[in-house]
Amino acid sequence: FLPMAAILSLLFMALVSNWLKRRLSYHDELRRGIANNEFSVNYQPVYDISSVSCAGAEALLRWQRRDGEWVRPDVFIAAAEAESMIIPLTQHLLELIAADVKQWDVPPGFHLAINVAAEHLQHPCFVSDIRQFATTVAEKSLVIILELTERSLISEGQEVAEKLSLLRREGIEIAIDDFGTGNCSLSYLQTFELDYLKIDRGFINAIESVDGETPVLDAIINLSHKLALQVLGEGVETPMQLEYLKNHGVMFIQGYLYARPMSSEALAHWLTNEGR
Ligand code: C2E
Ligand code: CA
Ligand code: CA
Ligand code: CA
Repeated sequence: FLPMAAILSLLFMALVSNWLKRRLSYHDELRRGIANNEFSVNYQPVYDISSVSCAGAEALLRWQRRDGEWVRPDVFIAAAEAESMIIPLTQHLLELIAADVKQWDVPPGFHLAINVAAEHLQHPCFVSDIRQFATTVAEKSLVIILELTERSLISEGQEVAEKLSLLRREGIEIAIDDFGTGNCSLSYLQTFELDYLKIDRGFINAIESVDGETPVLDAIINLSHKLALQVLGEGVETPMQLEYLKNHGVMFIQGYLYARPMSSEALAHWLTNEGR
């Protein structure tokens, strides 16, 4: 019989080849997933602290494969970005959202936040994709907010700044997502016209008591006030975190404390009950 080392190395090779097969096929799997309608969108409500009501929602993509398995969004988004599928996937997302929005009864000015990847920003189709989406949902008078990460802005120059400024003049708003995690310079804050700053969950987690010390969080809040940006705290899970942010002039929060991401149908129902 085979010695132990040979058995182990065969096992290892089988695992690696299995893993490679899965890795290599993401591009095709994503494409097939789109064609087979395996994607759906969840919406996480955003709370407006000052008006004590729902300000809007962020669209979060979900993927359930035909075998029933859910793929985590951070996994398939990273794969889509790495394998040139993020633009078709985002275009598909916009179609899904447009269909969902038609089923909602929302007040004019309801915020709808959409995550946009760097590659899409640079591509010539970006402005027309967003404009087309805005036209499709125009009857609802939504405020469309594009969420961009620091990293996607830092590598970009004048051309992207001009695209964003063009869309802003058409009423689309720009949020900087996961603020503070990009590990980059702040110079982009001067290059781009922005509307919102979303403080990453990591900084919100640091709030453990109402009068505890959170110097970095406090500096970020001050910075957004100085820049006249509207500020949103992400991943708010406790009443104490909400209280702290409220006391420090943060206008919006998003997190499990207020509401979890939910299906389009659940959101429509939620809006007519708790959401107003
Ligand atoms: P993100 O943009 O920071 O989205 C917020 C994430 O935090 C979501 O995870 C949401 O479910 C989670 N979250 C919200 N509130 C809480 C809370 O109170 N506690 C905790 N622990 N988590 C909370 P999700 O849906 O797994 O998305 C992960 C990331 O995947 C997103 O992070 C975003 O970067 C990316 N992503 C999701 N959908 C899309 C998409 O349509 N396009 C792009 N480009 N990226 C997307
Ligand atoms: Ca986001
Ligand atoms: Ca975020
Ligand atoms: Ca985040």
